[in-house]
Amino acid sequence: MDSTIMDYELTIKSIFWRIEKLYGNRTIVSRFSSTRKTYTYSEFAQRVRKTITFLRQNDLAGKNVASVAWNTSRHLELYFAVPLTGGVLHTVNVRFHPSEMEYVIREMQDSGVFMDEDIQATFNVKTFKFNQDYDEIVDSLTPASELPDLQERSGAVSCFTSGTTGKPKGVIYSHRSIFIHSLSLLAGDVLGLSSSDVVMDVVPMFHISGWDIPFASLMTGAKLVLPGIRPRPRDLVELIREEGVTVAAGAPTVWIDVMNYVEKEGEDLGKLRTVVMGGAEPPRGLMERMRKVGVRTYHAWGMTETEAIATVNRSEDLDALTKQGYPIFGFEIALLDPEGKELPWDGKTVGELAVRGAFVTGRYFKGDRTFTWFRTGDVATVDPDGNVKVVDRQKDLIKSGGEWISSVQLENAIMSFNKVLEAVVVGVPHERWGERPVALVVTREPTSPQEIVDYLKSLRAFPDWWIPDRIVFVDSIPKTSTGKLDKKVVREEVKKLLQIP
Ligand code: ADP
Repeated sequence: MDSTIMDYELTIKSIFWRIEKLYGNRTIVSRFSSTRKTYTYSEFAQRVRKTITFLRQNDLAGKNVASVAWNTSRHLELYFAVPLTGGVLHTVNVRFHPSEMEYVIREMQDSGVFMDEDIQATFNVKTFKFNQDYDEIVDSLTPASELPDLQERSGAVSCFTSGTTGKPKGVIYSHRSIFIHSLSLLAGDVLGLSSSDVVMDVVPMFHISGWDIPFASLMTGAKLVLPGIRPRPRDLVELIREEGVTVAAGAPTVWIDVMNYVEKEGEDLGKLRTVVMGGAEPPRGLMERMRKVGVRTYHAWGMTETEAIATVNRSEDLDALTKQGYPIFGFEIALLDPEGKELPWDGKTVGELAVRGAFVTGRYFKGDRTFTWFRTGDVATVDPDGNVKVVDRQKDLIKSGGEWISSVQLENAIMSFNKVLEAVVVGVPHERWGERPVALVVTREPTSPQEIVDYLKSLRAFPDWWIPDRIVFVDSIPKTSTGKLDKKVVREEVKKLLQIP
């Protein structure tokens, strides 16, 4: 029997209605290199309507439109303006090589590109630079009054995987998936954002819609702080203190830099009470340092294909907090063996994490396979109550003498040593064992490989044969465009360093 509920499409238009009608005097803050712009939701909504006029005048309404931009108010205006015309905003990773940018823009058949001034690239489609002139032109336009009706299952925002596992693959988020995912983030046991929060999103808006945090924040009337082009730790700390930020989100590497700055300069973090970290497992030591300055950390797991945050751990216990946490609303998990058979949730059995839900990719853009369960490539255990622990990415596990070594577990163990700042572990080919682990380490204080080995042994956290054969000190570790340890590049560097063909 059909329900008797009216058809109501869950779209960005519904979020926009709230912005205009309910929260007119709430504010958005955007950092630019020498200034900071603060404006109300009402003023923002007017700019969105004027941007829609701009899109219409340039024949871009309802089309695929690319942005190559940081977290700024101009970018946020496009987040709403493009989908509100029925188009898809394709957020291009600013750290892509220009040839990769060109590739993804061609793939998506984008009709125009909006980009920040610091981006050095040219494209074969209409290109608009985000600058003063752009602002003045948009300001001079008449706000669009009529907005088209939108279908919840049509595309709104698209994003490509960052290609750490091969060629970038396109994912298109629907209005519905953005609506449901954002709503799920607001739940009390997830991020619990509310209108009394001041939210700073340090997750790049060019990657997975900044984890949908801009949408979720505006949905609930929070003050939103956007840290602008290439923010330095000092910029972030200033924004946190001066804008009264209560909740912030970003990858662990961002917070490592912030904490180094805070500790060195003897700064404080004002009203900041919660930092959401994900994209990679946050080192326990980092979470402990943050707790010392009064900041609680939430640990989130997700990927491009799950529209970012899909599990959350809010444990008070720092040891328990290294787990990736519980599935959020509208999202299911399963643990599978290589044949696809379900494995038990006993906190011990290791398998591949498979997922499905209202914001999980059903197929890639131009892909010929449809997923009913999406296999993540992450190897994990699941506790009986559904708490996920990611052991490693399948391709980063090191197979030594027929047994698996978790590169992530080794990295975190090395990073828990107080003389170490950062570490990465990869497998290198070995005649006898197949593969052996090698670590690249950035030190905080002088130490020696032997001291690290002794420390690792003293932990008694894993068998001695896990301990890396070589520990090489380096000045820095290559990172991906989203700030993760770039193991593809690290493997090449290690091979060169050790002269392995
Ligand atoms: P890519 O780096 O391939 O572009 P994503 O940015 O989508 O892909 O990253 C997704 C991957 O990042 C996950 O599959 C997982 O391996 C890793 N990841 C994300 N969050 C966490 C976390 N909290 N702990 C450990 N690994 C994580």
